[in-house]
Amino acid sequence: MGRVMRTKNWLVLVVLAVATMAVAQQPASAPQNPQVVSTTQPGPAQSGPAQTNLAPPTTMDQVVDRVILREKDLIKFLSPRTPIVETYLQNLTQDPQLGPIPQDDHYFLGRMDLSDSIDRSDYLQDKGKDEGMEKHLLGGLTKKFKFQYQPLGFSWMIFADRNDFDRQHYDFHYARREFLGDVRCLVFDLTPKKDAGRGRFLGRIWVEDQDFSIVRLNGTYAHPSRNAYYFHMDSWRLNLLPGYWVPAYIYSEEGDFTAGAKNKIAFKAQTRMWGYNLKTSTANDELTNIRVDSVKDDTPTAQDASPLAAEREWQQQAEDNVLERLERAGLLAPEGDVDKILQTVVNNLEITNNIELPRPVRTRVLTTSPLETFSVGNTIVVSRGLIDVLPDEASLAMVLAHELAHIVLGHNLGSQYAFNDRMLFSDEGTYQNLGFKHIPQEEAAADKKAIEMLKASPYAQKLDTAGLFIRALQVRAPSLSALLQAHLGNNITENGTVTRMAQLAVSAPALDWNKLDQIAALPLGGRVKLNPWDDKVEIVKAQPVAITSARDKMPFEVTPFYPRLARYNTANAPAATTAATPTAPATTANASPTPTN
Ligand SMILES: [Zn+2]
Repeated sequence: MGRVMRTKNWLVLVVLAVATMAVAQQPASAPQNPQVVSTTQPGPAQSGPAQTNLAPPTTMDQVVDRVILREKDLIKFLSPRTPIVETYLQNLTQDPQLGPIPQDDHYFLGRMDLSDSIDRSDYLQDKGKDEGMEKHLLGGLTKKFKFQYQPLGFSWMIFADRNDFDRQHYDFHYARREFLGDVRCLVFDLTPKKDAGRGRFLGRIWVEDQDFSIVRLNGTYAHPSRNAYYFHMDSWRLNLLPGYWVPAYIYSEEGDFTAGAKNKIAFKAQTRMWGYNLKTSTANDELTNIRVDSVKDDTPTAQDASPLAAEREWQQQAEDNVLERLERAGLLAPEGDVDKILQTVVNNLEITNNIELPRPVRTRVLTTSPLETFSVGNTIVVSRGLIDVLPDEASLAMVLAHELAHIVLGHNLGSQYAFNDRMLFSDEGTYQNLGFKHIPQEEAAADKKAIEMLKASPYAQKLDTAGLFIRALQVRAPSLSALLQAHLGNNITENGTVTRMAQLAVSAPALDWNKLDQIAALPLGGRVKLNPWDDKVEIVKAQPVAITSARDKMPFEVTPFYPRLARYNTANAPAATTAATPTAPATTANASPTPTN
């Protein structure tokens, strides 16, 4: 743990000359703003506009031409957009028992401008270790090297070659047909031509066989210069709107743990993109929302609010402001089914503890990976990453109980956000302008109250798993400081030690990696699926896979992406998803609270 980053081994740089090149694009007829509408037309009518008037290709050469055309069309279609890019990276160290495990980690969150050259602006402005490390690593090196830890280094992998994806620069070799999920694909191996220059894609692409859009890229970039290095990547796209496959996930991994290997780097990294459909400017949209409304409140009881009622109105206004602002920044998922699951657990806690609040408690999901929670007004917010790693419903109840306790105890934060001027900041300024951190005394009081509530709840007999989760977190916390850095709420750990709900660990069984039926924490990404186009979240429906060794547990770790690809129609029909075997939170909808007192 500790001062990780043996920096000499980490001089991993990328020559990103391509990123600064001028953009040469084919004219394409994609509309700037196609709406996601429920389309009922079957067949080619849903295809992107570039498909019009194109006859089906009859030779492999014609297919390649179509692939090139589609890729240029996608680049053009995405150019006005500024999706959010999140990269979470874990450096690995070899554990004799568990294999490669995280040694330390890094987190990046930014908006990527997909217009001319791929660029980004950063949400994380703090002077934390990452910036210091970046400077340290770049010290003495020329600026023309791009620092690979920047999300840019990962996110540029969304296209094979942004500027020169054509026959002049690449040889296309047809390999075979293959299904990825429900989608039949043509597989091509791409090799850059001899004189194509540095930084050209080298690897394999999967192309769906109707419109010939690339749906997956897997490989690296060729001919790094001295002291430079290109990472390997596996980049996936999803058919989230008619005719377009949108870059969604990139997995990168390096490292060789065979005996005697002299690898200099070992890491795993997940990059996620979302917020494609976020509005970049709200001025015009807001005008359309103005309603001319002459209706007056004529009910006989209409009158001024009492002081307490006014206070509650005020808190409600602050709460609404904050949630609306976070959603607009792409950091909060729209209300949806995951909220209902969280709400069910909250209800179970409330009913069994006879908690009655003037307003119902709501729950929402942060779209980001770091493990954090906070509450504003009567809304509890939990991050996607935290829901992912929780092993079961009781541990989810533990997380929610802490925030519910703040609400019950009246630890209300955020009323300053009822002033609307405080909502006027750029999306990138969200973390600098919003914050919901309680003082230590309130944290301790919330933990105490939460444990009381849990012990009176249907989860009272299942708190062992919640305690085990805390124990597992305690073991990994020193290596996961980026994952555990809260950006809006209180940290769950302080200086590598779990502080939140730590008391539950005391009575929990001992952590035993070799005990295969003891699942203390899950890998990231296993529970919550985030739609990159509209930011909606849903619970992943995946068949559980049997764990056969301690190395299968991978608590808090990143793993490769393997989304089940589907075409737009089926991807959006909930019935089309595979038979669910709900584990943990998914079952909470059926949980029946059994009052115990
Ligand atoms: Zn708290």
